[in-house]
Amino acid sequence: MYDLIMVRYGEMTLKKKNYRHFLKQINNNIKSKLKDFPNLRVENTNFRSYIYLNGEDHVPVIDKLNTVFGLSSYSLCVKTEPDYDHIADKAVELIKAEKKKAICTFKVETKRGDKTFPATSPIITKEIAARVLPRVSGLVVDVHNPDLTLHIDLRSEGTYIYVNSVKGLGGLPAAISGKGLLLISGGIDSPVAGFLALKKGIDLVALHFASPPFTSDMALQKVIDLLQEIAKFTATGKITLLVCPFTEIQDAIRKNVDNIYNITIMRRHMYRIADAVCRERDLGLIVSGESIGQVASQTVESLKVINEVTNLPVIRPLATYDKVEIIKTAREIGTYDISIRPYEDCCTIFVPEHPVIKPDARKVEFQESKFDFSELIKKALQNMESYELDSKTKFSIFEKMKIPGNYEI
Ligand code: ATP
Ligand code: MG
Repeated sequence: MYDLIMVRYGEMTLKKKNYRHFLKQINNNIKSKLKDFPNLRVENTNFRSYIYLNGEDHVPVIDKLNTVFGLSSYSLCVKTEPDYDHIADKAVELIKAEKKKAICTFKVETKRGDKTFPATSPIITKEIAARVLPRVSGLVVDVHNPDLTLHIDLRSEGTYIYVNSVKGLGGLPAAISGKGLLLISGGIDSPVAGFLALKKGIDLVALHFASPPFTSDMALQKVIDLLQEIAKFTATGKITLLVCPFTEIQDAIRKNVDNIYNITIMRRHMYRIADAVCRERDLGLIVSGESIGQVASQTVESLKVINEVTNLPVIRPLATYDKVEIIKTAREIGTYDISIRPYEDCCTIFVPEHPVIKPDARKVEFQESKFDFSELIKKALQNMESYELDSKTKFSIFEKMKIPGNYEI
């Protein structure tokens, strides 16, 4: 029944000066996400895109649109002739398909972009309502609070009608705001933080600290699976994962510092390494899944002491989120079920019984001065592994390493 999808842009309409740049980016993003549908034709205007289906099923196309940032809403439209009877015929069909209740209130709203049409919008509205009402049982006019609005969009290239607008993802077009480094664990929080950073147009490289043999290949596979979900939302559908060997650093911390500072010092090392990776790869900021007060290392005092090892901006999209809000988003983006798989993380195997909750910077520096970590940091940076992940092709660490794993993909 549907002929095209009308797509409206979101927050980017606020950015007056950068508007052209934004427009170009979002149009490229839409085109590249839809490139696997050979019949689609995309037409861009300054505030909208029109995606002509040309026989393609709209369901998978909409699934793709639900991964494009910068869209405020979209509507499935039917094309008609610019003629009252034709519009009414199609409108009756459309309303019957969309009407969910026996008694349904409705109104008609007309936009007459094509000024050559020989009647004003209020007249068109009236004419169509008069033709549609007697043909759909249980339909009642309510112009103030209708269950259903029939939109008529008269344009020079065609007349389009639709009833529903579906909310898009919002945010800014993917990759418009530069590039950052996502610290990803296998938990619930960091993939959500990554999604929210992508939503603000930050393209991401991901960094994971692995501590074999304390953390297993299954834990690494979990991180890979999480990133493959996240990769759906990047401009290219791809994401790079860097895996940093962290065991020796953790061992040195455990052996050389007062263990109430273990976590603070471990996290400072994570940020030192993240800072070095950003500088090497020209990434402008660090993204983490920390949320204020969630654990000892995420009190304001802890975050301050941890943050002191880097001058780069550290973006913590979840800083003010409650766990229930984080879980809600995790479910929506499809990462929750992967995150709750029970594999260990380098942090969980390392938590002392009584971690310091309000660390003092000078005491932490003193503890760190008891051992020269610089060689270990250099070695960890040199021995990092890199994986190119793609949202379409499942990546198995076991196949890659030729390990006979019992893990099912
Ligand atoms: P998550 O659910 O993301 O694991 P969490 O509540 O368990 O979060 P922490 O383990 O303290 O919190 O980690 C806080 C943040 O530090 C994570 O969200 C992530 O950004 C980063 N982080 C923790 N562990 C790792 C790791 N092994 N590799 C990379 N980053 C990590
Ligand atoms: Mg964690």
